[in-house]
Amino acid sequence: MILPVVTFGHEILRQKAVPVAEITDTVRQLVRDMLESMYAAKGVGLASEQVGRTESVCVIDVPRDAEKEACREENAAVAMPLVLINPEITATEGKQRNEEGCLSFPEIGAPITRADKVTVSYTGLDGARQTLSARGLLSRAIQHEIDHLNGILLVDKMSAMQKMSVAGQLKRLQKEARQG
Ligand SMILES: [Zn+2]
Repeated sequence: MILPVVTFGHEILRQKAVPVAEITDTVRQLVRDMLESMYAAKGVGLASEQVGRTESVCVIDVPRDAEKEACREENAAVAMPLVLINPEITATEGKQRNEEGCLSFPEIGAPITRADKVTVSYTGLDGARQTLSARGLLSRAIQHEIDHLNGILLVDKMSAMQKMSVAGQLKRLQKEARQG
């Protein structure tokens, strides 16, 4: 089922996700719906708060050809789509600065500085705890989605200047959220 994506201004985006204690049918269904919703919205990642939920779950699918060539080989070990339950970044390395967007901030994007490489520990749909490393766009997507699970949004990563340049759009989104 395609779920509507919650946009900036809705309180749920500020909530911290609750760890998933067990992989139940409810969790499996949520993952299926989130994947379907992410593909329908043409996003590369989606966190549970963005569909009005609070389980610590995010989904990611970065197309190989969207990745810079230097990162492709390293990221090839990561099977897509990626389902991260209770994810936690355990190590970061280097820096990258690239354009970043978010389905909860339609038509807003800005260059954001992130770690170039991340190592993340997470539970898979099979319930097993595992670890992966990623670089480039995949690494950026993982950091962005885990931020969502902590109630941290794209706008929090923007500089004062960047925020000023999209202030009108942010205000409009907040107004729409208030009007439901
Ligand atoms: Zn986002």
